[in-house]
Amino acid sequence: MKLLVTGGAGYVGSVSARVLMAAGHEVTVLDNLGRGHREAIPAGAEFVECDLLDAQALTTALSAGAFDGVLHCAAFALVGESVTSPELYWRNNITGSLNLLDAIRAAGIKRLVFSSTCAVYGEPEVVPIAEDCPTRPVNPYGESKLAVDQMITAEAAAHGLGAVSLRYFNVAGASGPCGEDHEPETHLIPNVLRAAQGLLDQVSIFGTDYPTPDGTAVRDYIHVEDLAAAHLLALEKAEPGTHRIYNLGNGNGFSVREVIEAAKRVTGLEIPVVEAPRRAGDPPMLVAASDLVRAELGWSPARPELEGMISDAWQFAQQRPRGYSPA
Ligand code: UDP
Repeated sequence: MKLLVTGGAGYVGSVSARVLMAAGHEVTVLDNLGRGHREAIPAGAEFVECDLLDAQALTTALSAGAFDGVLHCAAFALVGESVTSPELYWRNNITGSLNLLDAIRAAGIKRLVFSSTCAVYGEPEVVPIAEDCPTRPVNPYGESKLAVDQMITAEAAAHGLGAVSLRYFNVAGASGPCGEDHEPETHLIPNVLRAAQGLLDQVSIFGTDYPTPDGTAVRDYIHVEDLAAAHLLALEKAEPGTHRIYNLGNGNGFSVREVIEAAKRVTGLEIPVVEAPRRAGDPPMLVAASDLVRAELGWSPARPELEGMISDAWQFAQQRPRGYSPA
């Protein structure tokens, strides 16, 4: 297939573009390079520099491309920033996605896979979290992604788009030259590795009084290559007029302390830690029930071990201790 990956200069988008190309698909990356990195765009992919807020340029790019499908990864994705500057999330994530749906419709593209998030569930009452869990996001990031999921459901029903939303849990690891490089970096594993490298004085443990076995928050980490593989399956299986939604995680939870201990084993280094208050908007435990994606897409994780994810992220961190070069 000829595929467009929005946000293909970002972490999940670049790895997914690599996996799609390795499976024999032709890939065009569309990115505004605002938070993505030119260097992350996989070799062999076409590149279109375009902002989703530029509706006219977007429509032109999609209409010119003769694409069979779109993988929509471009978004702002920082929970804390979404609380302090929600307008960025309404504009970039919601308006940008609406422009993309308009351009997809205008270009007659039949398939869409959307990067959604477990943040749409907020603080779930039942864990592991299945897709029928009530959606009650607790921050504008989760609200913006939920709004786009709802837009896509209506688009599929009204205009026949074949769509799949993948609600990611905690994405981790790296894939060859493509890894995680955010500025500012707020995610646990990259920060733990920066502390191991001495690039941070210490890593903060945000909250030690959660109702979890060791008092620190529990998350379900999924290897970015397993996530990318699910996108490939979703693009292949999208059915016209249908919007399917799947949770994507391994079903195993690891606490912040367990992640730090695993990183010590992987790196063989001391990792200085400091206990800090809870971070606003962080639920105690997020673990996926991923039975539906396994049953309907035939997905299963090839790399479910936490140490394997940390080890790949560690290789990337050592190759690029300061991340990608400026765009
Ligand atoms: N966390 C932490 N220290 C950090 C970064 C994150 O203790 O420097 C915690 C955070 O509070 C959360 C978990 O680690 O409970 C995972 O956070 P991350 O930002 O990686 O992903 P999120 O679950 O927020 O999407």
